Amino acid sequence: MHTQSGNMTGSRILVFGAHPDDIEFGCGAVLLDAAARGAKIDLVVLSRGEAGSHGNRSIREKEALKAAEMMGAALHFASTPGDTRLQADLEIKLLAAKEIRRLKPDLVFAPTGHLNQHPDHRETSRLVRDANRLARYGKTPGLENWEPHASRALLFYDISSESSGMDGLVPILVDISSQVEKWIDLMKCHESQTGSLDYVDLQLSRARTLGIQAGVNSALRLYSEGPLLWSSIETVLSASGPRL
Ligand SMILES: [Zn+2]
Repeated sequence: MHTQSGNMTGSRILVFGAHPDDIEFGCGAVLLDAAARGAKIDLVVLSRGEAGSHGNRSIREKEALKAAEMMGAALHFASTPGDTRLQADLEIKLLAAKEIRRLKPDLVFAPTGHLNQHPDHRETSRLVRDANRLARYGKTPGLENWEPHASRALLFYDISSESSGMDGLVPILVDISSQVEKWIDLMKCHESQTGSLDYVDLQLSRARTLGIQAGVNSALRLYSEGPLLWSSIETVLSASGPRL
C-alpha cells in the first residue's frame, strides 16, 4: 500500500493499542499520513500504562491526548483490567467488537502478536483479531444492540523493532517520508517514555532501514493476515517493488 494521491475523506481507521504510546510509536507516521488525506481516526487504548516504569496514569493519559490531538484523532480509553493484566478473554473481545460495530471503521489496526514482547501487546493482537470477526458475525451474543460491521482489512503494526515479520502475515510497506518530522513531534508527546532509552531514534532508524530497502526515505511495515485485493492492475502502478 504505497501512499497514494487518493483522497481518504470519509474513510475511517480504528486503531487499538495496549498502552498510551504504542500506537504513535508503532504506526503514528502512517496515521499522520492518513489524517492528512482526510481519514477519520479513532484510537482505542486498553490501559493507561499505569504499570510502566516511567510516568503515571494521569501523565500518560495527558500525553496520549496531546498525541491524539496532533493527529486529529478521537481517543477512547477502554475499561479493562489494566496495564500488565490484559487477557484476550471473551469479555474484552466483545468490548473491542462493540467499538468496531459502533465506529464502523474501513480499516482496523492492531499490534503484531509475536511472543517475545510485552504480553499486553500480544494479547491485544489476539483479542482484536477475534473481535474483528465477532463484529462481523450476524448473531454474536452480547452484541445484539449494534449492527454487524465488516471492516475492509485488519492490519497489524510492529511496536518494537525486534518484531520483524510474522509467519503467515503479508507485509505491506507504507512510504512515510513526508511525515517523518511530524512523527518525531508525535512520539515526543510521550515525554515520560523517551527519557531512558532513545526510543524515538530506534523507531526512526527502523523506518529509515525499511525506506532504504524500498527506495524511499522512510517506510513503515504493516501486515495483513491474507493477500489484499487490488481493485485493478492500474492501482498497482501507484506501488513499487523492493529495490534491494
Ligand atoms: Zn506498550
